[in-house]
Amino acid sequence: MPKRDLDFEERLYRENDIRRRVRLIIIASAILYFSFLVLDKVYASPYFSRFLIIRLVVLTGHGFLFALLGRAKTNKACANIAKVLALLDVSGIAIMIWFQNSYVQGLYIIIIGLVVAVPLTFRDTILLYVVIWLSYVIPSSLNMEGVGWLNVTYNFYFLTSLILIGALGSYVMDRLRRREFRSRAQLEETTGKLQESNAKLKTLDELKTQFFANVNHELRTPLTLMLAPVKVILEGKMGRISSTLKDTLETMQRNGYKLLKLINNLLDLTKLEAGKMRLKVRTVNFIDSTSSLLSSVKPLADQKQIRLYFQHPPHAIELTLDPDQFEKVTLNLLSNALKFTPKGGKITVYLEEKESTVLMTVEDTGIGIPPNMLETIFDRFSQVDGSMSRPQEGTGIGLSLAREIVSLHQGTIRAESTLGKGSRFMVEVFKGEDHYPEEVLDRRQDEQPVGIKRRVTDVQEPRVQDIVTDFRRLQLVDLERVDIETAAAGTKTHDALILVIDDNPEVLKLMKMLLGDEFDLEMTTSAEKGLGVVKEKSPDLILCDVMMPGMDGHAFSRAVKADEALKHIPIILVTARSGAEMLQQGIQAGADDYISKPFDSVELKARIRALLRIRRVESELAMANRNLKLRTSDLVDQQRSLFLSTVKSLVSAIDAKDEYTRHHSTRVTDFTLKIARKMGFSEKEIGDLELAAILHDVGKIAVPENILNKPGKLTEHEFALIKEHPARGESILRPVIELKDIARVVRSHHEHYDGTGYPDGLKGREIPLGARIMAVADAYDSIVSERPYRKASSHRFAVKEIIRCSGAQFDPEVVEHFLEVSASLAQEQSQGQETAAAEE
Ligand code: ADP
Repeated sequence: MPKRDLDFEERLYRENDIRRRVRLIIIASAILYFSFLVLDKVYASPYFSRFLIIRLVVLTGHGFLFALLGRAKTNKACANIAKVLALLDVSGIAIMIWFQNSYVQGLYIIIIGLVVAVPLTFRDTILLYVVIWLSYVIPSSLNMEGVGWLNVTYNFYFLTSLILIGALGSYVMDRLRRREFRSRAQLEETTGKLQESNAKLKTLDELKTQFFANVNHELRTPLTLMLAPVKVILEGKMGRISSTLKDTLETMQRNGYKLLKLINNLLDLTKLEAGKMRLKVRTVNFIDSTSSLLSSVKPLADQKQIRLYFQHPPHAIELTLDPDQFEKVTLNLLSNALKFTPKGGKITVYLEEKESTVLMTVEDTGIGIPPNMLETIFDRFSQVDGSMSRPQEGTGIGLSLAREIVSLHQGTIRAESTLGKGSRFMVEVFKGEDHYPEEVLDRRQDEQPVGIKRRVTDVQEPRVQDIVTDFRRLQLVDLERVDIETAAAGTKTHDALILVIDDNPEVLKLMKMLLGDEFDLEMTTSAEKGLGVVKEKSPDLILCDVMMPGMDGHAFSRAVKADEALKHIPIILVTARSGAEMLQQGIQAGADDYISKPFDSVELKARIRALLRIRRVESELAMANRNLKLRTSDLVDQQRSLFLSTVKSLVSAIDAKDEYTRHHSTRVTDFTLKIARKMGFSEKEIGDLELAAILHDVGKIAVPENILNKPGKLTEHEFALIKEHPARGESILRPVIELKDIARVVRSHHEHYDGTGYPDGLKGREIPLGARIMAVADAYDSIVSERPYRKASSHRFAVKEIIRCSGAQFDPEVVEHFLEVSASLAQEQSQGQETAAAEE
């Protein structure tokens, strides 16, 4: 059974108008109770008088409940009265069942009536059904007289089934009602929220409109106040001005106009959206007015080498419209066509008079518009290419303004286009003036006395009309291009060359004006061209705009910093967008500094100087570092050769000391290198090994001469002294870093392959390979040379001896290679002996 949901109950009763229902049920119940007297007379005549009393009592109860209903304050109280009514009716019938069992049918009426007539909850219905069931079961089981089991059972089954069906019905209805209740509650909640946000939006919208209205005053006034004097100066009313100053002032004026146009468009759009714009209609010859507009854009079209055509019927077309406003529509379509049509293209304007309308079509052979954008381009701020790197300037306001103006004229505007081939914009307006609703027309007279028309302050401030004599120029100002040649680079006169990259020639001009007195400048309008200039001229610093068509400033930075030859050139990115994200992107792209527009010229110069200074110091440091490195390596070389010649003279000193081992080092070196070459040593390894072999006995310098040359057997002490020579050799060589490996080989040249050698008892591959080779070469030379304590042996004997000791004293692999070169050793040995004999 569902939980008691008070909210639900209250709502259930309220929505079903419970009071009225209960009233009707009381009346219906009273009528039925009374009318069944007839039945009593026919079917239960023996009990008629008793039943009459029962019915009268119940009817009195009805009267009482009716009165109570009138006083009930809440819906719940009304529902409770309905429940008492049901109990009252049921108890009357229960008593009658005692006497007349077939009166159970009265209960059937109540069971069905409850579900249909009173919207009770499932829980209440079940409680009442239980009472109804008992009100048959109890009297029938207590008094079966004259009824018979069969009848009672029959009635019982019927009653129970009906109650079950009723309960099921009540359950289903209860669920349905609850579900409906919940969804309605949700709906109400959502509606409430929507209403709330709607109200908020309305307030915001009003604020926005208010804001834009303020913009009129707050932005337009200062701007006109700036532009007015500029105009006066340019007209020469304040004396002659130099051409540079004129150039600068013209740049200021052009950019002021751009801003003014933007503000005007925004204002118009807000006025239109707020429904505040009115039309000052008059009848004009539409061909003449369009033709005059075409003449104003002709110079721009010529500049871009775009052909301009005008096709119209031979007779005049009269149209009633607001010429000033409508001019904005036509100019916007023309300026878009000029903007998005490349050099050499064609723009055609068609005027066509139909029965009740006139159709103007502006067709171009430009870049076209993708099909999915044909509708949305008329939305505010919508642009096909809204990216930072789009090639055309624009804000996405023009077409939405055009649409609003055309709709105010009750006309239509639409676009057709094939991407890459061109676009066609069609404006259709009605002839005559009957189609204008009264509320869009401005019936005021134009020429009102100043005092009435404007506020006093308005008269004092210069108006837009006063400073822009040619209003159309203002509409087309976006399309004016500045000749970059005038901003081209000068000759070399300053210390540093700066490359400036910006797609807007006006900015380049400005940079020239700001920086030209201190730096040599190179200017380009695209990053791609800029890369070429960087490679060719290697500037000292680059100033690069971020948002540019094609390669943007970040990509340019990355390209420069990825090039080893260019990466040292400092880059300052210049951007109109500020913010941490932008800064981070710039730094990631490798830029050295970041400056946002509008920038302060002093700050810009200071940053350039700082970067140039750092760059200069860096390159001086790099140069000093290079020189230092060169000198250091020179010194190291000198030191090394000095050391080597010292050590070599030591070796010759030892050779001289020891008459028996004279030339020993040279020979050992020869043998060692022969074996090493056979073993595939590289040139560098051979070089190192050569040094090691020459120096291998350098430690003997510390062994007294008499021991070295002692003819007889050495004492243990003497032998120990001799055994020290490898370690001593190492310690002589170790201080020279590059000789570390060589020192190790020298230390190990008396180690034995089986670990019985000295000084460290190294084994197998623990012994450096060079030392293993030297051990064989050294042994061979010792055997074949005469020593104070023994005669020289033959080559064959020496070879045999070495083979014998392979695997014990010598590395078998080295021995193998030794055997391969041993034949040539035999030759050398005999030659060596001859030389020695000759010397003696
Ligand atoms: P914008 O100031 O960007 O030119 P508009 O509302 O005048 O704003 O135009 C919206 C966009 O519609 C433009 O940015 C451009 O992508 C597209 N568009 C308008 N006219 C043309 C045209 N003749 N050819 C191609 N694209 C056009």
